[in-house]
Parts: sequence; structure tokens; C-alpha cells
Amino acid sequence: MKIVICGAGNGAHTLMALLGENPAHAVTVYTPLEEEVAALQEAFAGGCGVQARLADGRTLEGRPPSVTGDPAEAAAGAELVLLALPAFAHEVILRDLAPHLPPGAWVGAMPARGGFDWLAQAILPGHQGVIFGMQTLPWSCRIREWGRSALVLGSKVEVALAAQPAGAGEAVAARMTDLLGIRFRTLPNFLALTLANAGQLIHPGIMYGLFHDWDGRPFGEDQVPLFYEGVDEATAALLQTLSDEMQAVRVGLLARAASGLSLDGVLPLHQWLIRSYGDAIGDPGTLLASFRTNRAYAGLRAPVNLVEENAYIPWFQYRYLAEDVSTGLVATRGLAELVQVPTPAIERVILWAQERLGKEYLHSGKVCGQDIGATRAPQRFGLDLPDLTAKNGYPECATRS
Ligand code: NAD
Repeated sequence: MKIVICGAGNGAHTLMALLGENPAHAVTVYTPLEEEVAALQEAFAGGCGVQARLADGRTLEGRPPSVTGDPAEAAAGAELVLLALPAFAHEVILRDLAPHLPPGAWVGAMPARGGFDWLAQAILPGHQGVIFGMQTLPWSCRIREWGRSALVLGSKVEVALAAQPAGAGEAVAARMTDLLGIRFRTLPNFLALTLANAGQLIHPGIMYGLFHDWDGRPFGEDQVPLFYEGVDEATAALLQTLSDEMQAVRVGLLARAASGLSLDGVLPLHQWLIRSYGDAIGDPGTLLASFRTNRAYAGLRAPVNLVEENAYIPWFQYRYLAEDVSTGLVATRGLAELVQVPTPAIERVILWAQERLGKEYLHSGKVCGQDIGATRAPQRFGLDLPDLTAKNGYPECATRS
């Protein structure tokens, strides 16, 4: 099978090792960034591929993949295309590949974030293959040495995914389990995946909690807060409210939907944490304790930038805001607007984040800010409720950028 890995970051390196191990796969890496193409081609010139050190101590080594910055070459004969890069890069990759993709190719995002199906449908209208998205990347992973090795710090026990057409979900889950050795759970549709994206609540919510009253002065290394273990009572209360608002949007959508729409799998945050991390959580009694006693989160610090010696400031452009707001929380806020469900806490976090990012998503309380064209809000795609809540609908949509 010809598999195209899009991107050259942490997740892509891990895929290069895992998929390249099996001689039955012809693996190609596609990245539009010329310097990455050159660096990978140089790294693989000696005949060695990428090694991945797994959390259980095993090491896998992939055969060197072919690497190209030419989308036509990458897409030719592709059966499976995996977008393993931050969600803000999905659009450019899909637009590059669109004219060249074989009609039956499966195209999946790892992870999808919100509204990946709306974006894919706008760029690949009438695509006859399968479009799918994962709720999260299956691993916590980092590049150890560029073009040579990756470190897998941990693997999820189970990852949720959605597919379009919806009936293809089981086949996608089976194939991805076969390829990656991870269990996949199928959500009923992409709308459920958009709402079930827990990162859109957790990351912006904690950033807000940690830094909304930051006074603008740099701080020393010993004051860089722990990210998850730094969740206090107030931040836990905010996260609970964000989760409650998400559930209200789910209920609002179901109330207005065509009969037969399912949003199963859109779990309240506390339940999602327990299901995702299981025994890694020492005290699952409350949402606060579930964050503070989760071994998978232990020791992770907030994203910061060093501005001078021992002087740090919050890194607001990091993906916890840059990715999770535009492709997560704003999509959810857009759905809330369509079903007229008030979401004041989601709105407060978006307003704070958009100021930090120098963007405008919300304007006068509506999802119509000037940067809406770079989001996954349904309003950007001209989608309205009947398109979104049809049982297995695949809306026709146009982009507004
Ligand atoms: P990454 O930051 O390592 O990906 C960087 C790569 O993305 C670059 O090397 C480049 O190939 C590509 N890219 C970035 N900007 C681009 C642009 N403008 N145009 C074209 N290509 C561009 O990302 P990652 O760590 O592999 O994560 C991938 C996704 O998984 C992200 O959504 C991330 O939030 C999510 N995730 C990652 C982890 C992890 O442990 N790495 C854990 C959970 C979720």
C-alpha cells in the first residue's frame, strides 16, 4: 500500500519508523517546506531510516521513506494519506494535494481537531474515498534527532475516530489498528468528533487560568508553572463550566437535529479524563484531583519563551492557543451560535486568547471576526443547521477566506 505521511514533525517521525518497518508499505513523506525536504533527503541518503524508541523500551526502525516537496509526486497512486501535523497546516496540505489525489484515496488527520470534514469537503468536493480524523495523536512523542530518531513517551490505550462516509468508520478503525497497533473507537460522525475534542477545553482553559492575570513582567525559571498540576480550584471550576457549556451545545444540536443523529461519545471532561487515562490518575474523585494526580501529566510545564537569561514569558503562540482556539473552541462557539445556546465561559476564553494571538474571531459577540477565514467555524463554510445535523449528511459547502 502506498502511504503518504504529510509533515515532518514529532508525529510524522514516529509514523516514519512505525510504517516504514513493514516492507509491504511504500512510504512517502510530503512536506511543502523545502528545508525539511532537503534535510530529510540528506538524512536518508546513507540508507538508514527513522528509529522510534517506544515507551516499553522496544526500538522500531523504518526503512527510509521517499521524500518529496512535489504534491503531484506525493499523491500519485496514494492509497492512504495521513496528515500528522498541527491543524493550522491541514488546509495548505489539502490544497496542495487536491488536484492530484486518486479518487479513492483515504485521507485522515491525526488529530483532526474541529470541523476537519467541513474543510476537507470544501477543498475536495465529491471526493470518492474516505475522509477520517482522529480525536488525538495516538502517542506523546518527540523528535530525538532530526531524520534519525523519535522518542515515544507514551501511547494512548484507545483513540476515537470519525469517518465520512460514516459507514466507513469501522473499516478505518480496523486498518489503523492494523497499521499502528492502537485500539480505535468509532464515533458516529464528524460532528461528534468536533465536540469530543477535549484539547479545545483543556489547553485554552488552563492557559487562561495560569496567565489571564499575568502582569506582563518576565519570571524566573523556578516560577514557570506546572501546566496540568498547576490547575487550581478556580481553573478547575472554569474547565467544569467549559465542559458544561459543551454539553449544552450537544443537547441543543440534538434537539434541533434530524431524527437519527447521534452525538454519542461527546463526554463531559471529567469522564473523558478517566476514560482516557484510567489507572494513571491517582485520585479520580474530582476534576481538580484528576488533573493534579494524573501521572501522564506529571512534571509538564506551561509553554514559555526565554527572553533573556533566566527571564521567561508565556508562549501565547504555542499550539495550546494558536491551534486549539482557531480549530477547536471557535468551531464549538460557532455551533453554539447556530443553536442559540449561550456559552459565556467559552466566549470569555476566546476573547482573551484572540487578544493574545493578535486575531479576531469573535466580533460583537458573533463568530464573524476578520480572521474567521482561518478557523473551523461552520459560519466560515457557510454551513447552517440542516447541513450539520442531517443524520449522515455530507454538506456541500463553500469557503470564506
Ligand atoms: P509538530 O509541531 O512536530 O509538527 C511540525 C511539522 O508540521 C513541521 O515539521 C512541518 O512539517 C509541519 N508544518 C508546520 N507548519 C506548517 C505549515 N505552515 N505548512 C506546512 N507544514 C507545516 O507537530 P506534532 O508534535 O507532530 O503534532 C501533530 C499534531 O498532533 C498537532 O495537532 C499536535 O497538537 C498534536 N499532538 C501532538 C502530541 C505530541 O506529543 N507530539 C501530543 C498530542 C497531540
